[in-house]
Amino acid sequence: MKKISWITHYQYDIPLPKNHRFTSSKFSDLYEELKLKDFYKNAVVLKPKKASVEDLEIVHDREYILKIKNGKLSEKEMRQIGFKWSEILSNRSFLAVNGTLLTCKQAIKKQIACHLAGGTHHAHKNFGSGYCVFNDLSYASKTLIKNNLVKKILIIDLDVHQGDGTAKILQYDKDIFTCSVHCKNNFPFRKTKSDLDIELDDNVNDNEYIEILNKTLNECLKIFNPELVIYDAGVDVHKNDKLGNLQLTSNGILKRDKKVISFFKNKSIPIATVIGGGYSDNKAELAKRHCIVFQAAYEVFN
Ligand SMILES: [Zn+2]
Repeated sequence: MKKISWITHYQYDIPLPKNHRFTSSKFSDLYEELKLKDFYKNAVVLKPKKASVEDLEIVHDREYILKIKNGKLSEKEMRQIGFKWSEILSNRSFLAVNGTLLTCKQAIKKQIACHLAGGTHHAHKNFGSGYCVFNDLSYASKTLIKNNLVKKILIIDLDVHQGDGTAKILQYDKDIFTCSVHCKNNFPFRKTKSDLDIELDDNVNDNEYIEILNKTLNECLKIFNPELVIYDAGVDVHKNDKLGNLQLTSNGILKRDKKVISFFKNKSIPIATVIGGGYSDNKAELAKRHCIVFQAAYEVFN
């Protein structure tokens, strides 16, 4: 039985006022929930180190990075992100991007690895948006390619929201293919252009979704030949999600995640997973939903 690397950090949580739509403790809640699973014994837990300002310049403007580091964003810029600035928010933002990078490196070594955070796909080059400060997906991909760890990367983003920041940042990167399957009527209302966008109407259910997913995965590999896949397994496609307009059940999400992971495993392409979005007033319920991709990884690889 092969152990699966899980990447997390005890400083991932974000301090937020009560009743904020984003769950402040979502990252530690997820880890605590995962510890209760029987597949926890099959995990190796690793911790990232902070990225430097210079590291992040591979995708973000230095001025923006420094504003995040030093708390110099305007009210308007912070409102667009949706969080208030704090030392803790700044610190976790520099950590989480390297969490995704470390997850990718582990996946390259071991075929699969899972990040207990990541998927901050609304962050752009010089501004943050929609609870996303830095764009971990584009940062990790560009860093891996620059360091010659892989030559071609597919980012498959199944969060209910379009990966607009990722698509825009990577629009001229021919070695990174961006695919986003998202709900047309969800944020962002002005979409950017991924290499492949699949727009879904409201209320798509499990069966309809899996059928579209099958076609999409095959389509990606028809066009592109990746050496690594980064998978954003956002659970805001869930029928009870507070923001998403789709109708997937937890069982449907498990099928989705197993489909994606087994599809690339069967082709011997390493896959790194990130948790993406998920919104609920019920913290326990949300943690359970984010556990699904870890369960899927375990079931496919064991
Ligand atoms: Zn989302």
